[in-house]
Amino acid sequence: MHGNSASLKADRGLVDPFGRHVTYLRLSVTDRCDFRCVYCMAEDMTFLPKREVLTIEELARLGGAFIRLGVRKIRLTGGEPLVRRGIMTLIDYLARHLDSGELDELTLTTNGSQLARLADDLYAAGVRRINVSMDSLDPDRFRQLTRRGDLAKVIDGIEAALAAGLRVKINAVALKGVNDGEIDQMIAWCGQRGMDLTLIETMPMGQVEGDRFDFFMPLDVLLKEIEKSWTLIPSTHSTGGPARYYEIKETGTRLGLITPLSQNFCDGCNRVRVTCTGTIYMCLGQDDQADLRTPLRASEDDDLLVAAIQEAMTRKPKGHDFAIDRPGSRPATRRHMSVTGG
Ligand code: SAM
Ligand code: SF4
Repeated sequence: MHGNSASLKADRGLVDPFGRHVTYLRLSVTDRCDFRCVYCMAEDMTFLPKREVLTIEELARLGGAFIRLGVRKIRLTGGEPLVRRGIMTLIDYLARHLDSGELDELTLTTNGSQLARLADDLYAAGVRRINVSMDSLDPDRFRQLTRRGDLAKVIDGIEAALAAGLRVKINAVALKGVNDGEIDQMIAWCGQRGMDLTLIETMPMGQVEGDRFDFFMPLDVLLKEIEKSWTLIPSTHSTGGPARYYEIKETGTRLGLITPLSQNFCDGCNRVRVTCTGTIYMCLGQDDQADLRTPLRASEDDDLLVAAIQEAMTRKPKGHDFAIDRPGSRPATRRHMSVTGG
């Protein structure tokens, strides 16, 4: 399925101009989704024609090349990764690298809508930990936020994942005047199920209908509110991602905060993102990219692909330029979050 060139074996891994080692790949397997979350997508998103999208075999080959270049963790994302046809085949392909010890973790971020059906298969394939995005425990609010999501189905999916033995972390985008009043309830709900909860600041990516300024909730402000009800102890815990964690004394679980706007975390960046068309983005918050699909399709072995990945690494920027500091600010990137999957 992939080339065996000597140059790959000789490689010393992926290091960017700032000396940061890239060991984490976020691979978007589709731009499609069964939800239309208001902060993520426009109501009438146009999705890519199928021919633009990498096949399951191409995605597996791409993942394999990154692994040989030193990537130790792969997160599948989207769009919604679990609506991609053939997703379990891809997971099985990539999971072989877990068996061989070349990969430490294969995980995914999902909206949970397909989990009731797939949780057991994911566990059987070698997935041990997943993130489920769920912004509200109120069915009507959940429906409004996702425009078409069914909360009961997502909760069934989460229960199925826990029953299958998967560790589940809930991710919620904090939205001022929308779900900021129910964070206490979400902490309690997650705590009862032994799940950590990570709150995320909304990021200015792609044009959506509303003005993100109207519902941007700085997490340092929200944290002060949360501390009125919960005892938070700063923790050194890390999942290799950008979240800062607190132990919640009352629940024994953790609260994570992802604060790209109020507290930039780029110094320790260890990741790159590849879209389902094989475009690599070296930073979530910048538009610079490189095409990996052409070198991938140009030859059976991976030499051209590896050269393209290495060239892209020389252009990894120091950090993002996100800002939501005034009404009507333009998005920092033209693309939506669903292109790279967060
Ligand atoms: N569909 C899957 C899901 O929702 O988990 C995976 C892809 S989704 C794009 C990944 C994460 O990005 C979700 O947790 C979602 O809430 C978050 N997200 C989407 N748009 C965002 C934005 N503009 N700012 C912050 N987070 C965003
Ligand atoms: Fe779909 Fe995830 Fe974007 Fe929501 S956040 S529209 S579930 S891709």
